[in-house]
Amino acid sequence: MSGRSRTTGPCLTAARSGLSRRTAMTFTATHGSGRHAIVIGGGIAGLSAARVLTEHFDRVTVLERDKPQSGAEHRAGVPQARHVHILLAGGEQGLEALFPGLREELTAAGAPWGDYAGTSLINFPIFRLPHSTSGVEVSFASRPFREYTMRCRLERGGRVEFRHGVQVKGLVGEGHGVSGVKIRDSRGEDVLRADFVVAACGREGRVDEWLAELGYSTPREETVDAALSYSTRWYRGPRSLSRYNLVVDLPTPPDLPRGGGFMSCEDGKWFVTLMGIAGERAPLDEEGFNAWVRNLRFPEVWDLVQKAEPASPIYGSAKTENRHRHFEELKRFPDRFVALGDAVASFNPMYGQGMTMAVLGAMELAACLAEQRERIGGPSLVGLSRRFQRRLARVLQSVWGMAITEDFRWSATRGERPGGISRVVGKYMDELMNTVPDDELVFQKFVRVQHLLDPVSALLAPDVAGRVIERATRPVRAGVREVVGGLVQQVGG
Ligand SMILES: Cc1cc2nc3c(=O)[nH]c(=O)nc-3n(C[C@H](O)[C@H](O)[C@H](O)COP(=O)(O)OP(=O)(O)OC[C@H]3O[C@@H](n4cnc5c(N)ncnc54)[C@H](O)[C@@H]3O)c2cc1C
Repeated sequence: MSGRSRTTGPCLTAARSGLSRRTAMTFTATHGSGRHAIVIGGGIAGLSAARVLTEHFDRVTVLERDKPQSGAEHRAGVPQARHVHILLAGGEQGLEALFPGLREELTAAGAPWGDYAGTSLINFPIFRLPHSTSGVEVSFASRPFREYTMRCRLERGGRVEFRHGVQVKGLVGEGHGVSGVKIRDSRGEDVLRADFVVAACGREGRVDEWLAELGYSTPREETVDAALSYSTRWYRGPRSLSRYNLVVDLPTPPDLPRGGGFMSCEDGKWFVTLMGIAGERAPLDEEGFNAWVRNLRFPEVWDLVQKAEPASPIYGSAKTENRHRHFEELKRFPDRFVALGDAVASFNPMYGQGMTMAVLGAMELAACLAEQRERIGGPSLVGLSRRFQRRLARVLQSVWGMAITEDFRWSATRGERPGGISRVVGKYMDELMNTVPDDELVFQKFVRVQHLLDPVSALLAPDVAGRVIERATRPVRAGVREVVGGLVQQVGG
């Protein structure tokens, strides 16, 4: 079977993103200081953005505070990478457009891949995903390995320089824009100049403070916290230990706050991750971990834990709230600077959206840069930054809505509740989820939206809505038929 994805999402083709193999023009600042772009952070967002920038700048420098890695190792700067990281098909297609053949590289190293539903067992709140072919294919790799493969690609490409052990401390302003960054490394403090700066410094990144230092306003920040915690242990064992790539029993509101499952990865590695929500703490001790696994609704997880070899301690994480910094609302925003990935919006990880949104953000940047050329007809970046942040916000909007609507199924969730229309949509989604197990078309459409291949609006299309409404009103219609039948009998009698 080919390693290329067979599902082609409309929003992720290289053509739409403006990506090409050759670049007609490189961008420079209006002061023309040398066709150089800087990316702050070497995570998924930073690596994706760096790849996009190689199409438009002669030189790209990725500044990463972590020390260099010799392989797919854990890094202190991304503590979440110890936990299971599922990449949705929307992110996978985006990465294939940026790094053609990436999935082949992963699978050559033993990362399993296959039909998402056909190789998984998943309990969502409300329904169990049918274990049948969904037409959406995904690969299963650890986060460090996926990131390492991307980094190697960029290093081989020759236009990206990685500088490790470099902490960015702030931005350098010039006129209405940014012209570089302030850094600290083992040699002390310095300034690096660039024509364009991308902040991809993750959930803890302090872009708002850096902007404030240059005299810009602080963006509004939205936080929705479902008090979710993770605990994860890695195991080793052959692929034959399970017929599934992924087994997940998600916590189910209102009274089942415990969940967990496993994912198979490259190199005979398995992640077992447990989730506790609404304040329920996922266990960090072996006894508690095993007891929790034994109580999951899928016995396959306990079966795996018994057969596989533990290969790590139990890691915990509780930094899981949804956080959205609304840079797009700022009246003034500097030219020659953008922010993306978790630095702008981070999500409750249970829905597996973070990496995909980081990749989609980079794709949006590619589209904006390509458009800039056509609009301006010259190598200027004026106006691009604000346009990008607004477009990114539009990409984020519906996914943010999906994530927080799910979180507010838990009464303990803190934050600003979505308004009236979201409640109506939430009720419709409940009915839709009840329909998924019995209706092939609704099932396939749901999976495509869940994987961010199609917009949420695809679930409101007449063919889907008709089936959902038909199912939801079936008991009412049956009741009316019964009443009418009874009346007819009485009248007839
Ligand atoms: C427990 C947990 C589980 C998750 N599971 C999933 C999942 O299953 N699927 C999924 O898609 N997402 C998941 N996520 C989310 C995912 O990890 C992030 O959304 C994704 O990594 C975003 O990438 P990023 O590049 O924006 O940020 P990060 O991956 O956090 O990378 C930021 C980088 O910037 C560097 N950096 C930060 N500040 C500076 C500075 N000042 N100078 C230099 N370098 C700096 C950091 O060292 C780091 O390398 C999970 C998150 C958590 C917490």
